[in-house]
Amino acid sequence: MNKIKAVTVHGGHNPQGKIACGASDYIDESREDRIITKKVIRLLKKNRIKAYNCTVNNGTSQTDVLRKICDKCNSKTRDIDISIHFNSAAHQKVQDGKTTGTEVWVRDTSGIKGDLGKRICNQLSKIGFRNRGVKTTSGLWVLNKTSKPALLIEVCFVSDPDDAKLYKANRDKVAKAIVQAILNYNKVH
Ligand SMILES: [Zn+2]
Repeated sequence: MNKIKAVTVHGGHNPQGKIACGASDYIDESREDRIITKKVIRLLKKNRIKAYNCTVNNGTSQTDVLRKICDKCNSKTRDIDISIHFNSAAHQKVQDGKTTGTEVWVRDTSGIKGDLGKRICNQLSKIGFRNRGVKTTSGLWVLNKTSKPALLIEVCFVSDPDDAKLYKANRDKVAKAIVQAILNYNKVH
């Protein structure tokens, strides 16, 4: 029995308009990551899972933001850390009816990380985002410096009008999808 009983969630960057804020195109990453973070936390609590908002609003640089996020996460008793991001690529001018999609980054796929990452991708893809899958990297600060398994969710692309449109119509469903993945994980662990 290794259920997820407590979670930290944070938006990955400084607030919109400040130094080290996130990507901006059809939507603003730093605005949306906070909206999703709050919705996810509310839903987790509703489902009696402890949830802490570890978003940082006063970083002096990107490194400082990341350091402060990790300090906040590590100060909590929790099972996993979730980082909410939005992806960005070359600005796509026209809608083609296809999203660029959703992906989850982990340091490696062992334990909770790979299993939950896959569940999150699957749930988000049900909304209509292309499933780009779980990807591994040893190069992301937040995945390396938190002391618990960490997942970084790139919800969708700010640079693709199809992603932005689908996302804006489904903010609640995006949060629900992430929480549903955790609840489903808990059903089998
Ligand atoms: Zn980001």
